[in-house]
Amino acid sequence: MSVIVQNCRTCGGQWFPARLMCPRCGGADLAPVGVERGVVEQLTHLGDVVIASVACDPEPLLVARLHGTVAVGDVVELTDRPDAFDRPDASGRPVAFVPPSGRSREESS
Ligand SMILES: [Zn+2]
Repeated sequence: MSVIVQNCRTCGGQWFPARLMCPRCGGADLAPVGVERGVVEQLTHLGDVVIASVACDPEPLLVARLHGTVAVGDVVELTDRPDAFDRPDASGRPVAFVPPSGRSREESS
């Protein structure tokens, strides 16, 4: 399970959603990379839906949706598959859903 983020091969920065150029160094050598887990930094409860900001190591900070009992500081598994996030992960960790960043208009036509 993972979420695809963008990695700058020049400075090592990681971004989500994808950018046209690295906002840190201006580099254009960007490649997709999967991040598998992160640490919950903040939580917002909307009924039984939980929205969390999840910090990846070293970055980015992702906004994710979770079910169940989650606390600040918990390690969560990340997925961009909406059908995977409400099932328990084999690791026993909560699964956080991060919607894919989508494709540009040019790519989808
Ligand atoms: Zn960079």
